[in-house]
Amino acid sequence: MESNGSVFGLSADKHIAFLFPLRASWALSYVRSYFLARIETTAYSKLVDAFLKGIFSAQTCLCSFFNQVGISAFLQNLSLQDMQCIHLKTCIPIEEHARSIFTPFAFKALQHELLLAMQYAASEMANGSYNVHHFKQVDGERLVIWIPENEQINCSCREFESSGILCRHAIHVFVVKNYFQLPNKYYISRWQKGTAKRSH
Ligand SMILES: [Zn+2]
Repeated sequence: MESNGSVFGLSADKHIAFLFPLRASWALSYVRSYFLARIETTAYSKLVDAFLKGIFSAQTCLCSFFNQVGISAFLQNLSLQDMQCIHLKTCIPIEEHARSIFTPFAFKALQHELLLAMQYAASEMANGSYNVHHFKQVDGERLVIWIPENEQINCSCREFESSGILCRHAIHVFVVKNYFQLPNKYYISRWQKGTAKRSH
């Protein structure tokens, strides 16, 4: 609080003084290690907003609301069958494999990370971990810890722990290691289409 007060001049603000001790409950940097399923992202907020605007009006009753949610869920399940229509954007085998497993929402998120992964380079360190850095951004450097025994990968950006989608840094290391598909553990059930069809 002292640093906030001195840097931003907020010491006297009662609202800030109340919020600061509770920062672990609201500040993104503190909740980065917890699974939030991307609900904190702008893309998710826009999706929910567009959905609610599409089914709500001044006359909408609660019963009608639940009916509309049910219909939307049914239509979404149907659209999963058209998943193959989502175009691949790279020729990396990881992308095609992920498309066969992930829901459209999750696949598009992973596809975005996969595209950005191509902008990074990885330097292997003495302990087998990787320093992954962006070709241009000086603050785009992350530490990726790789444990080959159980194909465990951990990135300092904590994207996977937070969203369940592997980050560009970890994906880059998998590409460097010549993986054609991500290990099964990185397809969490929350993001799989038809979890019941899992073969592992
Ligand atoms: Zn990362």
